[in-house]
Amino acid sequence: MTLVKEETFQQQLVAIRRHLHTHPELSYEEVETTASIRTWLTDAEIRIANYPLRTGVVAEVGGINGGPVIAIRADIDALPIHEETGLPFASRFPGKMHACGHDFHTAAILGTAFLLKEKEKELLGTVRFIFQPAEEKAKGALQIIASGALEDVEAIFGMHNKPDLPVGTVGIKSGAIMAAADGFIVEVEGRGSHAAVPEAGIDPIVISAHIVTALQSIVSRNVSALESAVVSVTRLNSGTAWNVIPEKALFDGTLRTFDERVRSRVRQRFEKIVHSVADAFEAKAKVSWIEGPHPVVNDSEWAALASRTAESVGLRVIEPLPSPAGEDFAFYLKKTPGLFVFFGTEGTKEWHHPAFDVDERALSLSASFFAALALDALKRLISKSQPIAKAGDEQ
Ligand SMILES: [Zn+2]
Ligand SMILES: [Zn+2]
Repeated sequence: MTLVKEETFQQQLVAIRRHLHTHPELSYEEVETTASIRTWLTDAEIRIANYPLRTGVVAEVGGINGGPVIAIRADIDALPIHEETGLPFASRFPGKMHACGHDFHTAAILGTAFLLKEKEKELLGTVRFIFQPAEEKAKGALQIIASGALEDVEAIFGMHNKPDLPVGTVGIKSGAIMAAADGFIVEVEGRGSHAAVPEAGIDPIVISAHIVTALQSIVSRNVSALESAVVSVTRLNSGTAWNVIPEKALFDGTLRTFDERVRSRVRQRFEKIVHSVADAFEAKAKVSWIEGPHPVVNDSEWAALASRTAESVGLRVIEPLPSPAGEDFAFYLKKTPGLFVFFGTEGTKEWHHPAFDVDERALSLSASFFAALALDALKRLISKSQPIAKAGDEQ
């Protein structure tokens, strides 16, 4: 796709977003998406950095006279969901959809790159743009880190669109903004028997029912009322017939926490309950963890600076409630300080809904916000000795 010169900036971003929306690709399969992003960057004469990635793109603007390096990240993958928006630019690929708005993130951050390219000579350092694959698998960030693209980065910024925030608002919060999202699989091994002779067996269904019920006590009895956690069992499988007590039961689900201390306490209680209840009923149990990303924990100084930047470009800053969803941006923040914000996109459907959509007016707003943030962040890094005033200090 070639960008026509007369198009306004907003129209360019809408065209890019719609192109991506029509052609969604799942995690690790973002081959055409990668090619399109490279083309748009190359057309804008933005240099593509050479990191070993199969999908995803890293590009850079600035750095002509050295200076610090900051990164801005967009995720590029779609979901295995069949789109039901009825939009004229809906997905052309059955069963695949940009239902999390990563098309919006990609288009907006490309817009930021275009804006900063025009100001390249003014940049006090390098802005590295990370178009990351496989966020929905919570692993793409690890690929980017493994590629070395974060090595010299002093601060990293990113966003998620937020349907419940109006266009023109940005949710900025220091501390945890998204949850650690751990998965678990529990296997309960009893002993099979005839359903009419339960005393000859060890019934894994009854035992699993006790475990699942007891697990609900973790949030109510082991987590402070001032903190939060979620323990959800989402699937339970066992048995083959109405008259057979099976040998095994299997259940899985997820834990969500916003604090590493709560996370480890919840996991510790989880293991204890599973093993102790199984033991009480003379069964064996095995817990396997699907390690999710950490909580997304924002740096307070970058949050303060970004709030000021947002206000300076006419956005309304609100402090959002954290989301119990997971985000692999957390892996970057473990490595380098930074900020993950929620950008208002005013939709009626939540993330991952087949009729999810964003209000495209937020495209140029978010592109401009991140461009201004990049300029302010580089300035801040250059004059690190000056303390940042908290947003609202002057009022
Ligand atoms: Zn998602
Ligand atoms: Zn997402």
